[in-house]
Amino acid sequence: MSNIVAIVGRPNVGKSTFFNRLIQRREAIVDSASGVTRDRHYGKSDWNGKEFSLIDTGGYVLGSDDAFEAEIDKQVELAIEEADAIIFMVDVDSGVTPMDEDVAKLLRRVDKPVFLAVNKVDNSARAADAVEFYSLGLGEYYTIAGINGSGTGDLLDALVEALPDETEEVEENLPRFAVVGRPNAGKSSFINALIGEERYIVTDIAGTTRDSIDTKYNRFGFEFNLVDTAGIRRKTKVKEDLEFYSVMRSVRAIEHSDVCILILDATRGFDGQVQNIFWLAQRNRKGIVILVNKWDLVSKETNTMKKMEADIKKEIEPFTDVPIVFISVLNKQRIFKAIETAVQVFENRSKRIKTRELNDTLLPIIENTPPPAYKGKYVKIKFITQLPTPQPQFAFFCNLPQYVRDPYKRFLENKLRDKFGFTGVPISIYMRKK
Ligand code: GDP
Ligand code: GDP
Repeated sequence: MSNIVAIVGRPNVGKSTFFNRLIQRREAIVDSASGVTRDRHYGKSDWNGKEFSLIDTGGYVLGSDDAFEAEIDKQVELAIEEADAIIFMVDVDSGVTPMDEDVAKLLRRVDKPVFLAVNKVDNSARAADAVEFYSLGLGEYYTIAGINGSGTGDLLDALVEALPDETEEVEENLPRFAVVGRPNAGKSSFINALIGEERYIVTDIAGTTRDSIDTKYNRFGFEFNLVDTAGIRRKTKVKEDLEFYSVMRSVRAIEHSDVCILILDATRGFDGQVQNIFWLAQRNRKGIVILVNKWDLVSKETNTMKKMEADIKKEIEPFTDVPIVFISVLNKQRIFKAIETAVQVFENRSKRIKTRELNDTLLPIIENTPPPAYKGKYVKIKFITQLPTPQPQFAFFCNLPQYVRDPYKRFLENKLRDKFGFTGVPISIYMRKK
């Protein structure tokens, strides 16, 4: 779980250039795991050993020029509400613009750390030009050039210094479910069906960060925490029809959960926005259950369910080992099954396979189907172990780790799934030198 940093600012100031620089640096280091898909506007980064999630809010601005202003205001308000720190980017080339002043006005009222980054300062003459940004009333600024990284070190030093320390994980080993999805999919209805009356609430546990609360429930014979972030509980002034809205909310909820219950509306299907949320959960290595809600509205023929399931699986390739449950919250159809499935996914995610069992099972399979020779070299996998991480990660020790290609890693992943049962859970596979 990490802090969320949002980059705000008007179009063309250089937000995505800066974002890509921070994300790629890290992706090169960590994302050697198989089956990774990129989401351009959201990613993990770290600096001085402190990890944070970065959101490029500008990535969500669509539409015409005059729509920009209203849109940006909304995004800034959301960033203020959901992020732990904000980078406000402006452009030294264009100087202070009225839109910058609008954004600054919103940011001056915030009691979260705000960093003013004056971008495109590629030389010292431009550094002198930056002083005019004092007029925004945000105090000290950082001159940077996102394009080559100059100045970004000082900015990041200050940023991670200001981020709150990550608090301890909740000790109790109860599943933590986040209910996510597009607006109107039926999330609130599902949560209501889930938690029923007040008497089912056992206790409020102070959550893992200032503004998230895990509420413990005891329902259908299961105990679980519902990750009820500020975002889920409160309704903002912001209109809910923004893609950005549901993504930003989802980021927060997903980060704090073990299992994401992704609800979609059967009459709308698995569209781009649902996919975005799915990848957020997948990239965060959370357990996932897909609930296709409003099943009562679908006219059913013999194979409707099978066909829809196949369609969804196509959308989520290559990570298709995910349970899909067709429900109707309205008719209380399969609600119990949905929870049972989520609990099962939680258990799969917590599963620890003994080294001995892992090697006894997989080494003969590998012996039979070894990695294909690459550039005339033969790879010999000698030993496998599960890493002591909260989610399943496996290290395969071998002589030439760099020669094992993605298709073979996927083969190993599928065998792990077949033999040990990791439905709903992303698996990471690392080849290590031995
Ligand atoms: P966004 O709309 O805020 O995400 O802006 P982009 O990252 O797409 O950048 C807009 C333009 O500014 C692009 O042409 C970038 O190449 C350019 N740009 C970004 N950072 C710098 C910089 O540090 N110096 C200069 N000279 N140009 C930059
Ligand atoms: P949220 O925005 O995701 O929290 O969605 P809501 O829970 O507010 O539901 C949006 C709308 O869908 C409401 O009018 C619900 O009554 C309706 N709805 C929720 N679940 C079902 C269902 O299973 N069947 C039908 N027909 N409507 C549903």
